[in-house]
Amino acid sequence: MTDTNKRVYRFGGKSAEGDGKMRELLGGKGANLAEMSLLGMPVPAGFTITTACCTEYYTLGGGFTPELKLEVSSALKATEKLMGKKFGDPVDPLLVSCRSGARSSMPGMMDTILNIGLCSATLPGMIKKTGNPRFVYDAYRRLIMMYSDVVMEKAEGIEPADGQGIRQQLDRMMGELKKKKGYKSDTEITAEELKELSEQFKAKIKDVLGVDFPDDAQAQLWGSIGGVFKSWNGKRAIAYRRIEKIPDDWGTAVNVQSMVFGNMGETSATGVAFSRNPANGDNKFYGEWLINAQGEDVVAGIRTPNPLNEATKNNHNKNLPSLEKAMPEVYKELDVIRTRLEEHFHDMQDIEFTIQEGKLWMLQCRIGKRTGLAAIQMAIDMVDEGMIDEKTAVMRVTPAQLDEVLHPIIDPAYEKKTTAVASGLPASPGGAVGTIVFTSEEAMEAVVEKRNVILVREETSPEDIEGMRAAAGILTECGGMTSHAALVARGWGKCCIVGCDSMKIDSKNKSITFASDPNKVYKEGDWLSLNGSKGLVYGEKINTIDATENPRFVKFMTMVDKYRKLGVRTNADTPEDAERALKFGAEGIGLFRVEHMFYGKNSEQPLAKLRKMILCNTDKERKEALNELEPFIKAAVKSTMKIMDGKPVVFRLLDPPLHEFVPKTEEKKEELAKELGVTVAEIEKRGESLHEANPMMGHRGVRLHMSYPLIAETEYRAIFTATAELQKEGFTPMPEIMIPVTISARELSFQRAICDRVKAEVEGTTRQFIMYHYGTMIEIPRAALTADRMARAAEFFSFGTNDLTQMTFGFSRDDVGTFMGDYLGNKILDADPFQTIDTKGVGKLVDYGIKAGRSKRHDLKCGVCGEHGGDPASIRFFNSIGVDYVSCSPFRVPIARLSAAQAAIEQEAAAATK
Ligand code: PEP
Ligand code: MG
Repeated sequence: MTDTNKRVYRFGGKSAEGDGKMRELLGGKGANLAEMSLLGMPVPAGFTITTACCTEYYTLGGGFTPELKLEVSSALKATEKLMGKKFGDPVDPLLVSCRSGARSSMPGMMDTILNIGLCSATLPGMIKKTGNPRFVYDAYRRLIMMYSDVVMEKAEGIEPADGQGIRQQLDRMMGELKKKKGYKSDTEITAEELKELSEQFKAKIKDVLGVDFPDDAQAQLWGSIGGVFKSWNGKRAIAYRRIEKIPDDWGTAVNVQSMVFGNMGETSATGVAFSRNPANGDNKFYGEWLINAQGEDVVAGIRTPNPLNEATKNNHNKNLPSLEKAMPEVYKELDVIRTRLEEHFHDMQDIEFTIQEGKLWMLQCRIGKRTGLAAIQMAIDMVDEGMIDEKTAVMRVTPAQLDEVLHPIIDPAYEKKTTAVASGLPASPGGAVGTIVFTSEEAMEAVVEKRNVILVREETSPEDIEGMRAAAGILTECGGMTSHAALVARGWGKCCIVGCDSMKIDSKNKSITFASDPNKVYKEGDWLSLNGSKGLVYGEKINTIDATENPRFVKFMTMVDKYRKLGVRTNADTPEDAERALKFGAEGIGLFRVEHMFYGKNSEQPLAKLRKMILCNTDKERKEALNELEPFIKAAVKSTMKIMDGKPVVFRLLDPPLHEFVPKTEEKKEELAKELGVTVAEIEKRGESLHEANPMMGHRGVRLHMSYPLIAETEYRAIFTATAELQKEGFTPMPEIMIPVTISARELSFQRAICDRVKAEVEGTTRQFIMYHYGTMIEIPRAALTADRMARAAEFFSFGTNDLTQMTFGFSRDDVGTFMGDYLGNKILDADPFQTIDTKGVGKLVDYGIKAGRSKRHDLKCGVCGEHGGDPASIRFFNSIGVDYVSCSPFRVPIARLSAAQAAIEQEAAAATK
């Protein structure tokens, strides 16, 4: 920082040196205080010390330059002039507050000190001026409590034992006084008692911290400025920045502002308001206020706040006075400010105000946080009101907010009051509440009895599918975000937490414990609640809130689609999922995994046939088994294509290694042995021979179809026969056949020959002309690197970014949960590459693959069907490299539509500024 740089910006008295655009330098709060002053609003005068000074403070090792001292001194003089009082003056002292204010809001993460300037020199003058000793000593004890906590303890890096923080010790002293006197509320403590308490507080501080509480206004001011700067590097603030990805070097500004008091009697008050309802988005002025109180009393929830107006009263506060009735003039003034702020900022505002002896003061305004439902409602309303354009409205709703309205959630108000017992990976969002079960069977029984259960497993296998479907939510000890349980649950929009490694399962005794309290044992039948959006587990029953179908959602999504360039398809393999995805706006199926018909509901029969096919010994037997299997594949394919009439459906050939389907239970082994006319031992031997050391890099995908072309033939025939039948029935099926795990163009040509032969046969027997597209997944680096050759044989690519990530990193997607935390914690990786595409490596392969492929086939269609197809950050990247469509699970379809529109709008804006 050069010394010519301005360090301090004044505001108040309907003018300001800064303005609302200077967030980087003045922080959000400082910029908005300046802007409100410029708008002529009643802002208590003060000044903002810039964020650059915070950096300078750290560079100096915790000091202030003479230039800063000078600028603060002259800004303080200007403030004194505007307020008609002097800081530190024994006759009519000005008191100030010191508040943090980063560029982007970090609610509650940094510190504030109020009533600065009260000391033995100013106390008598203040008492004389106000004629209210109780008020003055109450302000004094608050200053002592905040200052000792923020400046003398936290900023000094002192880490007291649990419950031994100075603030807590002082709180206890006040509690004891109230108990001794039989007072219920703080307001009952008398002036004399508060005076005495302040003295005891100061003695305690000296005793605990070894230093005197500063009895000088200037010392308090500079101590507070340093304390706020230091709170930028407080534990809470650092943790919050990690989560919100806020850079450490931004620093915080410090706002020094004249104090106004809402606790000066019955004509004083304080409140918090939103220009619209932040919970449901209603265009009604909404807020809470308290008579004779300071701001912290409203937020701390010690007293039940009053409603702002008559229109927003609810059952809890219907008998309390509204500001509209109690102080109609002030309410009117505030309501005018509300409208003016919205017109100016074009967004919902969160406002803090104080009324001092009947006069309104604005302490803060900022863009208000809101729920998903409210975000959608406000975006649409503001377009209708002509306040914002459609593109702005589309950008106003975050993908996470949209997700909120698609799933039932556990009651957020209750969640705030309670504590989680464990946390895991938030695999599938929404909320689930139910009693614990440990097996799939128990989950299925529960669904028949209409009981909600949480299926708790170490991990899940395909055999658990039915139980997973039946359970309200799924909780597993192991697994990563693309583990089987996660993938399947997300597909169903079912709440799921995986990798909850602080949970210990005792399967013998059917109980679990959590590391947070190992003595508390949860048994089968005990309640658990899951927040799948945050990965939090609660050891109790919490109500869920239903996300109702909202016509506003439909209207919003219509607007979203106007601006999107990327297509959005879905990954679905059943008519139910296809139907749901259609409702959510899917434009086709980007991935129908043939193998899913062998899991879950109605899979018993086809699975038996598949097992027979896998474990038979001769081609003749295999052919027989495949003939029996074909009608099942055809039925599954046909029912889904029927639902998707007129829209493309990508059928991906059988992908998993065959051993996954080998029977595991004695009963199933016996059944199969009987069917094949061999012994159980022989079945076990044949199953054993299919065992592979690295099955994900083994005999799977196209490799199966190279070894057993008969399997491929059966799949092709089932697809083409279903197509021909649907055509005859008057439908317009649009099959696309996709070969998985390919590494070479020759594999594709080899398979295409079989496919075309079978198609010709089906055309001959059904007398139907069949159109289809032939393509490949790109999920192995070699396939991406030889994409020009692959494109000669494929009409479309679909990037299987799950496997492509696995193969590029060499991280097993099923085991990555065990060490991913270390990679993220140590910042080796910025994000889990199985959730957000690794643009530097895997993304480069996708980009290269598209370019190389299109160099040989200019109209090559390129999609993405890995889990990244539903991830907003990944979608932004795919939009920028010319992907044609993304495909994701049904519940993610709306999120993908929104993310695609936002990516297109951003890209257009970036191009316009170039
Ligand atoms: C992929 O690998 O990205 C993919 C979609 O296929 P699967 O998840 O079925 O392996
Ligand atoms: Mg794959």
